[in-house]
Amino acid sequence: TSRYIRRLPNREWESFFYAICDQCQSYQSERAELTKGFTHCNVCGSRIGRNQGIFIVPAFGFIAGQENPGNPGEEKPEKTYTTRVYFSGKSSGEEEKVCLKLAGGIELELTAASRGKLAVINNAGHYGFRVCRACGFTVLGNESVPGQHKTPWGNDCPGKMLNRYSLGHEFETDILKLYFHGYQDTRKGFWHSLLYALLEGVSSAMQIERQDLDGCLYPMPGNPLGSPALILFDDVPGGAGHVRRLVREESFKEVLQASLNRLQRCECGGVEGNASCYGCLRHYRNQFCHDELNRGMVIEFLAKVFPL
Ligand SMILES: [Zn+2]
Ligand SMILES: [Zn+2]
Ligand SMILES: [Zn+2]
Repeated sequence: TSRYIRRLPNREWESFFYAICDQCQSYQSERAELTKGFTHCNVCGSRIGRNQGIFIVPAFGFIAGQENPGNPGEEKPEKTYTTRVYFSGKSSGEEEKVCLKLAGGIELELTAASRGKLAVINNAGHYGFRVCRACGFTVLGNESVPGQHKTPWGNDCPGKMLNRYSLGHEFETDILKLYFHGYQDTRKGFWHSLLYALLEGVSSAMQIERQDLDGCLYPMPGNPLGSPALILFDDVPGGAGHVRRLVREESFKEVLQASLNRLQRCECGGVEGNASCYGCLRHYRNQFCHDELNRGMVIEFLAKVFPL
């Protein structure tokens, strides 16, 4: 099926160069007209690998395929593959901070900020999308490009589809940054498991819809290859003040407790909990890491730092 990114007459899509570091996963971007791309990570200095490109901002939406010519549809190419969220490291609002002493000499630093800048990027599983810049006709990067294509209005389009693009956009919202001082963990999947456990905990302790929250990992500048920070954010345009409310010791203890309860109630992976499922950590938004999410590792961690 063919689909279109909607174009408006005389208006280009905004586009940005972006790069995600293979070593530390940090994100950087610049308007495509202002740069030729990135060679090195601006946090850890490693060479940028293949996780880079140009993303188009499909700000005018999408148009469904030729089955319904000219009829704007709900079907979005963006849903074809899982998307990833990245924190840029930038926020411009006022910050609030609190430190929580946990067991074992670990200290949890919570920093809330408004107007944190995040990016959502869909690179179609590294294949990207081939996009006709004239009419918006789009195919997945691993599909063959038809010799000819039609515009959404059924006319032959002279446009070419030479380059691969990602789709994405940047946005600002309320964020909460968590950093566990005095704790290192290099096990595969540990930090993502902890992140998604805490998001579930926030949702149930604060009675916020899980779909109004999301999160990502963020490498700490100065220690980019050590433990990452966890970024929780309001997945609501402009922010809703949800995660900001958590910068209180009592609130966050409730979150830790609710996170642990949910994981302990689940039965996947047996007694050791060496697994994850939709009843504990999995969510449609975190499909990219389902295989590595592990309930047992987080139970062990939370029970250690937060003894009842
Ligand atoms: Zn890096
Ligand atoms: Zn075209
Ligand atoms: Zn489970």
